[in-house]
This record gives sequence, C-alpha cells and structure tokens, in this order.
Amino acid sequence: MHTKIKELLQFGTVGAQVEAKGWIRTKRINKQVMFLTLNDGSCQQSLQIVMSPSELPKELLSQLVTGASVTVSGRLVASQGANQSVELDGHHLTLLGNALDYPLQPKAHSLEFLRTWAHLRFRTNTFGAVFRIRHAISYAIHHFFHERGFFYLHTPIITAADAEGAGELFRVTTLDTPPKHPDGSMDYSADFFHTATNLTVSGQLAAEAAAMGLGAVYTFGPTFRAENSNTTRHLAEFWMVEPEVAFNTLDDTIVLAEALLKFLLDYVLKQCPDELDFLNQRLLSHSHAEEATMTLLERLQFVLEQPFARITYTEAIAILAASNKHGQFVYPITGWGMDLQSEHERYLVEHHFKRPVVVTDYPKAIKAFYMRQNDDGKTVAAMDILFPGVGEIIGGSQREERMDYLTAVMQHIGIQNLNWYLDTRRFGTIPHSGFGLGLDRFVLFVTGMENIRDVIPFPRTPGHVPC
Ligand code: ATP
Ligand code: MN
Repeated sequence: MHTKIKELLQFGTVGAQVEAKGWIRTKRINKQVMFLTLNDGSCQQSLQIVMSPSELPKELLSQLVTGASVTVSGRLVASQGANQSVELDGHHLTLLGNALDYPLQPKAHSLEFLRTWAHLRFRTNTFGAVFRIRHAISYAIHHFFHERGFFYLHTPIITAADAEGAGELFRVTTLDTPPKHPDGSMDYSADFFHTATNLTVSGQLAAEAAAMGLGAVYTFGPTFRAENSNTTRHLAEFWMVEPEVAFNTLDDTIVLAEALLKFLLDYVLKQCPDELDFLNQRLLSHSHAEEATMTLLERLQFVLEQPFARITYTEAIAILAASNKHGQFVYPITGWGMDLQSEHERYLVEHHFKRPVVVTDYPKAIKAFYMRQNDDGKTVAAMDILFPGVGEIIGGSQREERMDYLTAVMQHIGIQNLNWYLDTRRFGTIPHSGFGLGLDRFVLFVTGMENIRDVIPFPRTPGHVPC
C-alpha cells in the first residue's frame, strides 16, 4: 500500500519503510546521485527522492523524465532541504508510465499556453493550488449552510423556466430540426418534453418554492449562460451558490452574504496555507507586482477583517459622476438609470472605498422581474456585492411577495408559463430573500488568478470547449 505524499511529509517518521507513487516533476542527476521530485497531487509540496543511479538500468534512467509516473519504495530520512522535514532514500523504483514528448517542462509556462493543455494543467503547481483551494471552498460552503440549518436542494438543470426573463439560454432538444409554427417560430410540441427547454441560468425560482416549505435552502450547482461575453469574468458554464430564506429581508440577506464570504475566506486561510503561500509568491514574482499595494495574503486578510462598505445605487452614481475618473471610463457615466459596468464597480471598490462594497436599491428597469419594488416606485430591493479585482461576485434581492405587483411586472415584460411560480404568492405568500454567489469568481479572488478560465476545469467559453 502506498502512502499519500501529504501524509509522508506531515507524519512520516525518519527510518520508516514506505512506498510513494506519483508523477516526476524534476530530475537532477550526476554520477553519484539522482534527485527526483515526486508529486501526487495530495498537497502543494513534492517529495524529494534520492537514489544512486548506478543501481538503475540505463534505459530506465532515460525514461525518468518530467511527467512520467513511478512507484518508489525506500526509507524516510531527515531532509537537508529547508522546505521539508523528510525525503525518501529510494531503494526500488518502478516506472508506471513513461512520458516521452511530454509538453510541459519543469519551468513556468504561460497560463495561455497551459489553457491549450487544459487536461494536463492539473499537474502543475499553480493549478494544483487552484483546484485544491476550489475544493476547500466548495466543502466549506456546505459546512456553512449545514451548520445554520439550511437544506441543500438539487434544483433542475433542464428547465422550461428562464429565471432572468431574458435571453442567453442554451436550448435543450432532441430534435435535429424542430418544426415551425405558421408564424415562423419553433414548434417544440414534438420535442422530448413537448415544450421548449433550456439549461438553467439560475436555480432561484425553484429554490423559492422550496423555501416556502423548508424555510431555508441553498442550491449549489452548474449554471449555464449563452452570453457572448468574452471577458475574464464570464464562463458559459459556471457554478453558483444560491441560498433562499423564508422571512428574510434584504438586510438579512446582506448580513448572510457577508458572513458566508468571510467564513469561506477564514476557512481557506486556515486550511490551505501552502497553496496560498505558493500563489502569493507566484504573484510577487510577476513583473507588475510592484504596482500592487497589497500581497495576495494581505488582501485576503484585509477583506476578512474589514466591514463591507454599503451604499445605494443612487449614491454610487453620484460618486462615479463626481470622480476625477469621469470622462476616462470606457462607458461614460450618463446618469441615474444606467447599468453599472465592471469598470465602474471596480472603481468603487478599488479606488473609492478600497474594500468590498454592497450596492443596494437599483433602478427597477435594470433588474430582474422578481425583485421587490421599493416604496419610491422607481427602485427595487436589490443588492450586488462588489469585490476587488473581480467586480460583481454576488447578486441578490428581497423577492416581490405581493401578487399584484409581481403579475403587473410579468405582464409588462411578457413572461408567461410561470403559473406554478405564482402559486408561491397565491398560497401563503411571505417576505423572503436570497442571492447568487458565483463560485468561480470567488475562487478567482481567493487565488489571485486573473482569468476565470484558470479556476475551473476545462473552461467553456464562446468558441471554446476543451473536452
Ligand atoms: P454580470 O453582470 O457580471 O454578468 P450578472 O448580473 O449576470 O453578472 P447574476 O445573474 O446576478 O449575475 O448572477 C449571480 C452571480 O453569478 C454573479 O454575481 C456572478 O458572481 C456569477 N456569474 C454571473 N454570470 C456569470 C458568468 N457568465 N460566469 C461566471 N460567473 C457568473
Ligand atoms: Mn451576466
């Protein structure tokens, strides 16, 4: 039985006879001694293996290259290196799989290059760190909600509902060419579900129905948007966490969101110190590092400790209009009613408040139909949480629980086929609130990566599907 390298490095005692398995990262060799670093993905560090090359056949030696997989047994000895307590004095080595012409070399490759080898990048230090952190965050999300009495709800992936009441849908069909109605529109009555269906853009509407019986629920699953946004923050398939809570007001949901984000940060800082150290170093060694005022670790600690700033949309517009950046934005500040672009969000966070910002009470015309109308008749009880480097990380709201308000908006924008949803208001309606946290954007922030394609396995974006 082999032992994970993480366990060998943490608990291995000098003198123990052990077996390790993994992939070779580097090899250094001279006549007397060969050093291999072996990584098995269990942790950031690799195990150093020391062997005498004279004990190994020449042909085998030439196959011990970066990327090759091996089993090594031997005795743990105290390490001379500063970074690790033990190394392996190897006695027996077996090649499991060779790696001739392995495209990744033991040097820093560009992230763009590694994206073209999306199936191999799990084997690099950077992506090992990113994906172990992504796991830790996912685990901590369940922990957070479970501890607070929320129920994990599996909402439909295939759905007939369009939660945003807008386009951007991936159609799901088994027909090669759906027949057309006389008016030219597609006729899906002959299709698998006898109606038009799509991949979900949000589990919210189903979560609302569940919250009306279970009280507090959360969904955590894949979400699909066919938006042609070729940005560093948009994916066609991403993961979203959506709590929905009966009787919560907008204020309650902001408190919940801030608590969740801080819990997750605290968890990763405690559970993934080696991964964060590695990513911190990685950013420091980048050429533009001197521009940054804080290191990655300082930034995470800072966000954890500071209360988030809170402003209304109306105040945000006033700040942006008065900013000396006025006139320098790609999208100029045209006044109240305009949607905030990512550059505006980042200005508020990175230049004005210098910490995460919660923006509330947006104009109803730029927000989704289910958001609760405020007494001013112009704004809705919405909130977006904006993060440094990322912009919007959470979008949420108090939901419109008043039947007459809700049906008026739905009629106005032409939403049909949501009769089941209206039943939540017909029968025992209550105030309730929720939000959506983009997991990938949060991982982007925590890891300090700059492109969302580098925090999800096999990123799918317009024109690109790696597997
Ligand atoms: P944006 O304006 O940045 O496109 P949005 O307003 O469409 O975001 P919501 O519909 O409120 O976002 O979704 C909730 C959260 O899901 C967002 O705050 C963000 O973290 C995440 N998100 C939305 N669209 C994407 C996407 N295409 N790729 C990755 N994450 C996304
Ligand atoms: Mn969007």
